[in-house]
Amino acid sequence: MGLKIILDEGFIVNEYKKGKSSLVLGKELGVSKPTILKILKKHGVTKKRDRCKSLNIKEEYNRFTIIKKCPKCQKDILITSNNPTIACRNYFNSVSKKSLCKKCSIELQKGEGNPFYGKKHTDKSKQEISNSRKGKGVGNNNSMSNPTHREKARINLKKKWDNGEMEHARKIMSDKLKETRKLGKIKSVIRSKKEKEIIKEIRKLGYKVEHSLRIDSKIYDIYIPKLNLVIEYNGDYWHCNPKKYKEDYYHQVKSKTAKELWEYDKVKIDLIRGNGYNLEIVWESDLKEDHTLIYKLIKKYDKR
Ligand SMILES: [Zn+2]
Repeated sequence: MGLKIILDEGFIVNEYKKGKSSLVLGKELGVSKPTILKILKKHGVTKKRDRCKSLNIKEEYNRFTIIKKCPKCQKDILITSNNPTIACRNYFNSVSKKSLCKKCSIELQKGEGNPFYGKKHTDKSKQEISNSRKGKGVGNNNSMSNPTHREKARINLKKKWDNGEMEHARKIMSDKLKETRKLGKIKSVIRSKKEKEIIKEIRKLGYKVEHSLRIDSKIYDIYIPKLNLVIEYNGDYWHCNPKKYKEDYYHQVKSKTAKELWEYDKVKIDLIRGNGYNLEIVWESDLKEDHTLIYKLIKKYDKR
């Protein structure tokens, strides 16, 4: 008679969700990997590789971005990495932790959400704080309560910035900002508004529209299944509209020349056409000039 192992299925599901692989779990519990997978399937837990496939991972200049909604305010949170698998993992970690956007999590720290809310310092910690403040001046004795001192401190700091003593701090801040822009965080906000307008218009014309279509790792803005039509909305600046920019124009934010950006976009265009889709690019300035552009475009494909 063989030994029958009783498995705690809840435990397996939990450990797997926390990030342990089915192989490791199997080894730890002395069963095969397929046994673990069978249990996971029974509880409706999908394989990690499959769950990544179901995500809209946007790839741009080798950065992979997944958009997640803040559970509180429903605003977009961007999860990025230069590795799509890591981006996917971080996405699911963030979902399971119910992570909020920066604004909401700061908001949560106020009042009742503050871990210190309703609590008081113990006498011991009061003494410690008091000791640490000894000789440092409080209230009116605090040097920063004096406007002259404040002004002096301000000028000193400015001097440090100007003569390069703060170069290290400046560089960190500047790099952070550049990185933010490169990842398209700023662009995504500007662009999605226009995209939404276009989608609204197409819906008004009576078509079903999908917000984004994924081919390989590339994400396209708008897809109309009935017309097999993909529409890419290109901001003039972000995509260096050839009507406005020369090929040697250097895009500071993207750290690429216009020509390099066009080449990148061309790869994306070739990929979608190569997969048998119709593609139309709508340029920001063209749409501004002609408000019937989307209508004309749709009619063009509807005739076929
Ligand atoms: Zn939020």
